[in-house]
Amino acid sequence: MDKKIPYKIYLEENEMPKCWYNVRADMKVKPAPLLNPATLKPATIDELSAVFCRELAEQELDNDTAYFEIPEEIRSFYKMYRPSPLVRAYCLEEKLGTPAHIYYKFEGNNTSGSHKLNSAIAQAYYAKKQGLTGVTTETGAGQWGTALSMACSYFDLKCDVFMVKVSYEQKPFRREVMRTYGANVTPSPSMETEVGKKINAEFPGTTGSLGCAISEAVEKAVTTPNTRYVLGSVLNQVLLHQSVIGLETQSALKKYGVKADVIIGCAGGGSNLGGLISPFVGEMLRGEANYDIIAVEPASCPSLTRGKYAYDFCDTGKVCPLAKMYTLGSSFIPSANHAGGLRYHGMSSIVSELYDQGLISARSVEQTDVFKAAETFARVEGILPAPESSHAIKVAIDEALKCKETGESKNIVFGLTGTGYFDLVGYKNYNDGNLKDYIPTDEELAKSLNQLPKV
Ligand SMILES: *Cc1c(COP(=O)(O)O)cnc(C)c1O
Repeated sequence: MDKKIPYKIYLEENEMPKCWYNVRADMKVKPAPLLNPATLKPATIDELSAVFCRELAEQELDNDTAYFEIPEEIRSFYKMYRPSPLVRAYCLEEKLGTPAHIYYKFEGNNTSGSHKLNSAIAQAYYAKKQGLTGVTTETGAGQWGTALSMACSYFDLKCDVFMVKVSYEQKPFRREVMRTYGANVTPSPSMETEVGKKINAEFPGTTGSLGCAISEAVEKAVTTPNTRYVLGSVLNQVLLHQSVIGLETQSALKKYGVKADVIIGCAGGGSNLGGLISPFVGEMLRGEANYDIIAVEPASCPSLTRGKYAYDFCDTGKVCPLAKMYTLGSSFIPSANHAGGLRYHGMSSIVSELYDQGLISARSVEQTDVFKAAETFARVEGILPAPESSHAIKVAIDEALKCKETGESKNIVFGLTGTGYFDLVGYKNYNDGNLKDYIPTDEELAKSLNQLPKV
């Protein structure tokens, strides 16, 4: 079969997934359970339901159900911006002079500018269904906060966003999008929560981190009636919702008889990567196919490539359950690089376990190389990519150039998670030649790794 592959492979509306896929169901060794920090016993649904919506807590702990039906209300929201296109990067291939075939799944075609809306709308739906009046959350670069604001305005829920201070200052326009959708946005660490005050006292002048912002959002949720906390990455439930990315990719490739060889995604908390790869990893786990899967992370926040696989706190204030994951330590505060969405100290337990089992590999890349790749991509493919997504672009280009040397025409698929219109401070620094690469020393990493909880 050699059908001419169009620039954009679109699925029909009725080809959209009707279920999310839970890769844990096919894993023989399951990801380690979340632990209650007080008892060090596996967290129960009742305990998690104090912080999260009930149905989301159930999804979080379900290691066995392979398919969860996507509720009709969520499917009709998805239809506003899904199915998203799988694009054949003909122009990039030509520019690189590679025999490789490059495809990217583009998740930036909605106002939030990223894949995060896939889970935001699901989480807002379950909050509404439970009769809650509002949710709280953190946001790093601002994409999650924006996505959640959109989802909350759709379901008429109150939305409180704690935004990592460095992003709040770098991206004031993100805040305005969130406010336009009705959210209340606070720079973190703030003086509005007990944990925020404590962190400010301990690290004066800190530019914040996702870990701090999570602690603040959780505190706000548990001290506000009829409110729960929602999280945009890392959790099993988020990877479940994001599986819509991988399922669509799988269907689109099938439609043209294309077998992926290499699958690449950027990894912050692991949700887009986990969502993209889940159905393909499922095939690997069932012995149906093999793929070379690469997680790409920033050299400034290298949890997979330089972290430890251990139980750690998900947040700086140590209020969340403990998760076993590749981590740099919850007290690690990465340098203020421009891929805000990848500045998390830990990694999804599912992605961590797949990595530990050797089913996927990981690479770290420096931000000047990332922006160089973003520039190359933008100039030929027309899309201004998010710096986070550009980590995947960088490795996709590297892999395509390897094919140029070997003459192999591999099929390279990567996740283009979003657009970079709010990242122009980063692009400005790159264009001005002022971008710095910051790689933490072993001593710096040891400092936070030595504080891992003893479990
Ligand atoms: C948040 C974000 C990421 C990283 O988050 P994951 O949970 O690792 O997917 C990547 N790309 C974009 C555009 C983002 O907004």
